[in-house]
Amino acid sequence: MFSSSNNGKSDLKGIANVSKEKETILEDDVGDSQYFRNNQKWLKKTYKKYYFNFFANITLPKKIHLHEFGFRHFDDDKMHRHLSFKNSGELYAFVLKFAPSDIYCSSSFYNRPTEPMDKKEWIGSELIFDIDGKDLHLECAIAHNFTKCNVCKFINKGVLEKCTNCNSSKLHTIDIPCKNCMNSLKKEVTKLLSFLMGDFGIERSGIFVYFSGNNGFHLHIVDGNYYPLLSNERSEIASYLLGKGFKMETLGVKKTDDNKIVPLLKNRQLLEAGWRDRILKKLKISFYSGKNSDSAFISQIEKLENAMKCDFQQMVSKTVDDLSVKIDPMVTMDIHRIFRLAGSLNSKSGLAKILCNDLDSFDPFSEACFFDKSKVEITCFAPVSLVFKGKRYAVNEGKNHVPEYVAVYLISKGLANINSKDIQDERR
Ligand SMILES: [Zn+2]
Ligand SMILES: [Zn+2]
Repeated sequence: MFSSSNNGKSDLKGIANVSKEKETILEDDVGDSQYFRNNQKWLKKTYKKYYFNFFANITLPKKIHLHEFGFRHFDDDKMHRHLSFKNSGELYAFVLKFAPSDIYCSSSFYNRPTEPMDKKEWIGSELIFDIDGKDLHLECAIAHNFTKCNVCKFINKGVLEKCTNCNSSKLHTIDIPCKNCMNSLKKEVTKLLSFLMGDFGIERSGIFVYFSGNNGFHLHIVDGNYYPLLSNERSEIASYLLGKGFKMETLGVKKTDDNKIVPLLKNRQLLEAGWRDRILKKLKISFYSGKNSDSAFISQIEKLENAMKCDFQQMVSKTVDDLSVKIDPMVTMDIHRIFRLAGSLNSKSGLAKILCNDLDSFDPFSEACFFDKSKVEITCFAPVSLVFKGKRYAVNEGKNHVPEYVAVYLISKGLANINSKDIQDERR
């Protein structure tokens, strides 16, 4: 179990050596790596404090010994997988000792969780859904997120294709979700809950909704009926939620070559459930049974086409797009993935992955934020406005004194450095 951290140390040495070689030619890079090491060191200290004070936030699976664990550390850049713990005490000791940057746990249970994948002896897996802000392609996010250049390190405002400073296209996005981003994510979660309970009959008490710790939500379905499902079966559930392959024919009508709508479906009862019911309700098309039901149904569609000046199939596709849940299907179908452990910190933000008891009122910048309000000094690379614990912080470019939780967030996002004074203070 502990060999992984030794690897980490040798890696760190490797980075330090490279920096030394570059010293004479690339002073800036050496400076950058020193700032980076200071940031990592300071974050590790704050994470350790979190796990010491808030380990009770962590929700462990019932049979912890059957799960695979994985970690990332501040001192190296690797994922350490295939670890296991006999009980929560053993995990607590490990987390307190190493203060990892990220903690992951498998959704699957295995007879031999520490073995390589093909020897683990898979028993079953929770059903998991991932809703990520980046998959929503929100207009507000494109405007308020940042793009950091991997070449010149310049921080560009907005999501861009090319760096405005050096024209490089080697960029990465820094997402700072706003209230609208969060509300849009919550809408997706609400849609997903309606599908899971309405169409799949899953009890609400078996669905655990977690804020991911950064810019999304994870839904864990703790229902034994779903544990044995294999990857292809999980993929079918994901396709259903995404509304894949839904056509006007699924509503029991088709268009002839001369553009006339004719009935197709024999059993009209099917229209009153699931996707069909959702689409018809959204398009305000009523369902009739009995005599003349086909002509009454089709005449509503024709009226709608005339009123909207739009082809029915296009209307159906647009409605499917509105009603489908923007889940990442790869996450749901992958039964060998390890997921961020509930209650652990997300190193992309310093916020915790936390259970949302009341989705409507949930505010990640209050409820998932567990750091101090004591002030520290940071150097910020761009002006940023954030709301933490109900208070707005307008952070300027350059030196700022901000609460520890604002500092953790901005440093985790790559938008600020910790002032070296704060590193030295703690050495004493
Ligand atoms: Zn650049
Ligand atoms: Zn936004």
